[in-house]
Amino acid sequence: MRRLVPAVALIVALAAAAGAWQLLSARPHHADRTVPVATPQPTAPPARPAPPAATSPAAESKPVPYVPRAWRGQILRKRVRHFPEKLLALTFDDGPDPKITPLVLKALAQYNAHATFFVLGKCAKTYPQFVKQEVAAGHAIGSHSYSHPSSTSAEGAVAELDKTATIIQQLTGRKPQLFRPPYGITKGNLCQTALKEGYTAVLWTISTADSNPIGPEVIARNAIHTPNGGDIVLMHDGKGHVASAKALPQILRELTAAGFRFVTIPELLQAWTDWQAKQKAVSHAHP
Ligand SMILES: [Zn+2]
Repeated sequence: MRRLVPAVALIVALAAAAGAWQLLSARPHHADRTVPVATPQPTAPPARPAPPAATSPAAESKPVPYVPRAWRGQILRKRVRHFPEKLLALTFDDGPDPKITPLVLKALAQYNAHATFFVLGKCAKTYPQFVKQEVAAGHAIGSHSYSHPSSTSAEGAVAELDKTATIIQQLTGRKPQLFRPPYGITKGNLCQTALKEGYTAVLWTISTADSNPIGPEVIARNAIHTPNGGDIVLMHDGKGHVASAKALPQILRELTAAGFRFVTIPELLQAWTDWQAKQKAVSHAHP
């Protein structure tokens, strides 16, 4: 009986080590994207653990999905109620900027998080390398117009959208499907034209209020306060948004620890669509 005790202790220790390794190496976000890692056996850790998913280039090169058909030409202004998955969509407006965008990209990469960048056409034209980096890292790119006008003529709206779409297509190989209206204005020519052209107009469900001079701590708190699965978080990576870049690591750290993972808007829309289809199937099965 006595001889069993050290053996049991050894098994427990090995199991704990295996579990700890699993936590370290398999962040949930990319667990499904990489070569499947064998489930650690309770009695023995894997002989040669795979490197953490965060460093796998294959995990970053998966293209962002297209926007599901049902959401095209729609305004997205609230999350789907009771959505059960702990997914969050961080969105960054007004970039790219040579000072801010690299900081944002670095923080996102550190936490294996994906986000959506609503770029201004004029900034994408001036700093194309950052848009390319965003795409290479698996982030989604949307249009935020060319010059951020608060109102335009009908012709002006078409020009704002088309100029930006051409630049984005040249840099990413894809026409943008997402549009974030400047100032969140959906009634003007710009947003209405975008909807007619089939863009999904993406508003937000949580604002970090990072356009105000409130400092990184408050910006972070605004995001961390009470997120729900499926929330869309408004942030900025445009010129001067140092506080937003400083707040981001804290947001990522605390919300990752709380079990959230960070996805692009098209991924979130796909998850919503899948979930709604499942709900329908359930309600049909139990009339
Ligand atoms: Zn803006």
